[in-house]
Amino acid sequence: MARWVRPALCALRLWGPAVAGIPASKLVEAHGSFASATCTVCRRPFPGKDVWAEVMVDRIPRCPVCTGIVKPDIVFFGETLPQRFLLHVVDFPMADVLLILGTSLEVEPFASLSEAVRSSVPRLLINRDLVGPFAWRPRSRDVVQLGDMVHSVERLVELLGWTEELQDLMRQEAEKLNGRDR
Ligand SMILES: [Zn+2]
Repeated sequence: MARWVRPALCALRLWGPAVAGIPASKLVEAHGSFASATCTVCRRPFPGKDVWAEVMVDRIPRCPVCTGIVKPDIVFFGETLPQRFLLHVVDFPMADVLLILGTSLEVEPFASLSEAVRSSVPRLLINRDLVGPFAWRPRSRDVVQLGDMVHSVERLVELLGWTEELQDLMRQEAEKLNGRDR
């Protein structure tokens, strides 16, 4: 859904759950992902789909080498954030614009990330409600679009002249999903 920002923002990186059409290098899944897994004992990596298959039949995934429990590389509450998260925090002071969509901005470190861009950098919040620093410490260049998020994003895409590209992308992704169901 987010390929529409790419033409304008070549250094774009997305911080959030996997989004259709976004290459892995441009995405930081701060809460980890089910795409990969690691043995909690010997730290061997495994493909996420192997773990998933075990879990779906109510079995605890075990490492074939050391029999340790294999855990998906998702971040549970209280665990440290993935390395990749820390690696890309440097994006923020260099950003020219910050788009924030669909969040409560209540959970750290995300709440603070919204303040990690320079004060001259425009921040766009597309959200149902006014949240976080946008409510209690607004900046003069903040732009806020509240209400239905799908409509807001469609409007932004329209203003950018990317409606056709977005529709193509959504069609492609829908076809992929339908193919997977069969
Ligand atoms: Zn192991």
